[in-house]
Amino acid sequence: MRVAVFSTKNYDRQFLQPAAAKAGHELVFFEPRLTEQTTVLAQGFPAICSFVNDALDAKVCAALAAHSTRFVALRCAGFNQVDLQACAQVGLRVARVPAYSPYAVAEHAVGMMLALNRKFHKAYNRVREGNFAIDGLLGFDMQGKTVGVVGTGKIGAVTARIVAGFGCKLLFSDVAQNDDCKALGSYVPLEQLLAESDIITLHCPLTRETHHMISKRAIERMKPGVMLINTSRGALVDTPAVIEGLKSEKIGYLGLDVYEEEADLFFEDLSGRVIQDDVFMRLMTFPNVLITSHQAFFTATALEEIARVTMANLTAFERQEPTMNEVRA
Ligand code: NAD
Repeated sequence: MRVAVFSTKNYDRQFLQPAAAKAGHELVFFEPRLTEQTTVLAQGFPAICSFVNDALDAKVCAALAAHSTRFVALRCAGFNQVDLQACAQVGLRVARVPAYSPYAVAEHAVGMMLALNRKFHKAYNRVREGNFAIDGLLGFDMQGKTVGVVGTGKIGAVTARIVAGFGCKLLFSDVAQNDDCKALGSYVPLEQLLAESDIITLHCPLTRETHHMISKRAIERMKPGVMLINTSRGALVDTPAVIEGLKSEKIGYLGLDVYEEEADLFFEDLSGRVIQDDVFMRLMTFPNVLITSHQAFFTATALEEIARVTMANLTAFERQEPTMNEVRA
């Protein structure tokens, strides 16, 4: 089947092309993001393949359907960027890659904890400049610290297992309990997790209920000097409230792999441009903030699996077979 691939980078070609050849699909790669303007590129393609910042809102869905596209293969797990009702109304089916490597994201989240704690990013620069002083690089032992995991699905559970290995105490918050996690720590109400954790790491999806769950009020409940890690979705966090928390030193460390307004920034080389997002630029001024640009998923293992499952989803659609990976309103 011919498939229009949006938001293409070199690494997408590298992993999708061999998987497509194996599955017998013909991919046409487009660099632009999927927007109302770029839907014209999908003309005549029965299926498209899109990524996290390709917003499938009502207008985009209508335009795709008008160009006779019938299937959207998301090459990601989250689907908060898709208006599923609008898709259903115009007859667009949508499938995702629900699990590719929870280890990739969990290991990145723990990497952020260690980097922020032991200040690897600062030490790297210092040593390269011949500055071997360690003043200002003081960290803490992970052993004995309380880590609060919000969302104990696939990624949250792997994160919990890794930090349990450091000897951390674990608190969990979720709308459903995971037996593996129960063996590692305790499920508590979110308010208690916020109040008792030294490190809080977010692993729940972005939904109406979780939007801005890290609000001004939530931050007020936290321990002074808390470490907050978000590798899930940017809008779980109210960024201006977090900036206030950093200024008052309530938040002692912040690690972000996702940002609410990331669509205009992440995945692009903007090093020669003036960044217009003042909120993002304010975040970058804090010495205790570490930001990566949505790269937690970015391992070879994960990209191979994303490519394999995306092709399987396309094949299922082509053969009109049901797939467990389909997402509906
Ligand atoms: P999952 O579906 O296995 O787990 C999500 C968990 O969140 C579930 O246990 C669910 O019950 C829980 N949850 C739902 N609503 C909640 C709420 N209100 N409060 C607390 N918990 C709630 O998903 P996963 O594979 O572990 O992925 C988690 C998230 O990670 C995804 O939704 C996605 O946004 C994000 N993600 C980020 C990257 C990245 O590169 N940064 C990559 C993949 C996934």
